[in-house]
Amino acid sequence: MPALGLGTWKADPGQVAAAVEHALVKVGIRHIDGAYYYENEKEVGQGLKRAFEAGIKREDIFITTKVWPTHHNRVEESLDHSLKDLGLDYVDLVLVHWPFGMIPNKNHHLIPQNDDGTYNHDPSFDIHENWRQFEAVYAKGKTKAIGVSNYSIPSLEKLLSQAKVVPVCNQIELHPLLPQHDLVKYCESKGIVITAWSPLALLDKRLHESDVVKAISKKHNTNSVIVCISWHISSGRAVIPKSVKLERVESNAQVVDLDKEDIAALDNLWKTTGIVRTGAGAFASGYVHFEDWD
Ligand code: NAP
Repeated sequence: MPALGLGTWKADPGQVAAAVEHALVKVGIRHIDGAYYYENEKEVGQGLKRAFEAGIKREDIFITTKVWPTHHNRVEESLDHSLKDLGLDYVDLVLVHWPFGMIPNKNHHLIPQNDDGTYNHDPSFDIHENWRQFEAVYAKGKTKAIGVSNYSIPSLEKLLSQAKVVPVCNQIELHPLLPQHDLVKYCESKGIVITAWSPLALLDKRLHESDVVKAISKKHNTNSVIVCISWHISSGRAVIPKSVKLERVESNAQVVDLDKEDIAALDNLWKTTGIVRTGAGAFASGYVHFEDWD
């Protein structure tokens, strides 16, 4: 998996195809992160098509999609939908988007709620049965690899107790305000690669204007965004910053080599800022088993 990817969440219509094409053709990014949930895979597919027309080869790029909780028991159906929209006959990686199921209903097809405002979780969700469906699409060759997302240590322990195929990757929110050292170490011990989502922490000032990040930016003659992205790559993780602004897609790829001292300073920044989780969606509360969440 190429360490630097392009994220595609919250990319408005009319923008993401150009960003994907630019990333692949002009910037040299070789990894695109998408999901059924983002409802823009058709447009991502248009960007891929243009990149192929410009000479980029399918086998040289790495495409990820994810299966949303409403499809926990229809994994192949979800993957087939994504493949059709992307215009591909396989993806490189498909992830379990969250470790729970939801029942789609009339009020929302992706984040369904009950009449009392609670979220319509599916009590029949079975982490092992869900994973067996992932193992089945992997066996069929519809994906080159299978992995998970938003899996805490308890979720992974449960999954690994029966998994025949170990997930290759765990995609989690990760930045210096939420370094999740225990989870990262646990994944490393199992050979599971970490991919960091929301690596910019919503441009939180406690991160981007901290003395630590300012000093590292100055030392490497760069900016705080690049420092955040580079922290992952220099630490052996993958990272998928999102932008639909072509100049940012390009500038975000100007990663720098951080040394041990820089990495240690970023690893320890949370001690002064406290832990900040930016993506703790209420729909997942009670189901993810992260200590700082539910
Ligand atoms: P992010 O990449 O940390 O930040 C994206 C935001 O930062 C966008 O608003 C973008 O705006 C802006 N931005 C990007 N580069 C910038 C720059 N150089 N200067 C200033 N602003 C900049 O956050 P994210 O999109 O939440 O996470 C990245 C990707 O991870 C997603 O797109 C998605 O693919 C994946 N993800 C996965 C999960 C999961 O549950 N597995 C959850 C969240 C995200 P512009 O587009 O306007 O530049």
